[in-house]
Amino acid sequence: MTQKDGKGPRFKGDSVLLGGEWVPLRSLLTSLAPEEFAALAQARGLDHFLATHAFCGRCGAPMEPAPDAAAPHARRCSAPACEGRSKFSYPSFSVAILAAVTRNSGAELLLAHNAAWPAPRLSLVAGFLQPGESLEDCVRREVLEETGLRVSRPVFRGSQAWPFPCSLMAGFSAEWESGGIRPDGTEIDRAEWMTRERFKAAAEWSQPPGGGPQIPPKGSLARRLMDDWAAG
Ligand SMILES: [Zn+2]
Repeated sequence: MTQKDGKGPRFKGDSVLLGGEWVPLRSLLTSLAPEEFAALAQARGLDHFLATHAFCGRCGAPMEPAPDAAAPHARRCSAPACEGRSKFSYPSFSVAILAAVTRNSGAELLLAHNAAWPAPRLSLVAGFLQPGESLEDCVRREVLEETGLRVSRPVFRGSQAWPFPCSLMAGFSAEWESGGIRPDGTEIDRAEWMTRERFKAAAEWSQPPGGGPQIPPKGSLARRLMDDWAAG
């Protein structure tokens, strides 16, 4: 949905209209300053919220602006008898973890290939937080589910707004504890232990394939966690 008041950027899928051209948001991770990308992420989140809250989830009536001065984008149900009349809806987002798992005293980093990606592409294990779960539980569960490895000592390393369409990425390091790589075969079809030497020869996703692995672009939290490991 585009912003009907004509203010703010217009979005179509994962692209934004800039200077008359649709530009992939991912390409802006590297070219925009962090605060500029954060502003775009906020706009995308609001856009997504308004597009997915046109009707009440309780009764199906149209939604309307809610009288909450502190949250001008809040919505409420337009049906007078509905509980959604008094319980306002606010822009929300899903939380996902990124796990930089290492072994051999940090000499190797676990990288995984998502079944939907081009063959050379590799990144960190990632997954969405489930209700009732801590972020640390999520790290342990996602790594086990996707790669068959048990990990310990998850440590928070930073976060990043991730507007695809409205997530928050929480980055963790963790240490391999036990198990051999056994991809789940559905989301992850391949995983491997990466050495620093091989990592340094890898090309970014945005670059043409050069025969080696492709890794996330600079500007992404995944890349920052990987660079931190490589520099260690
Ligand atoms: Zn309703």
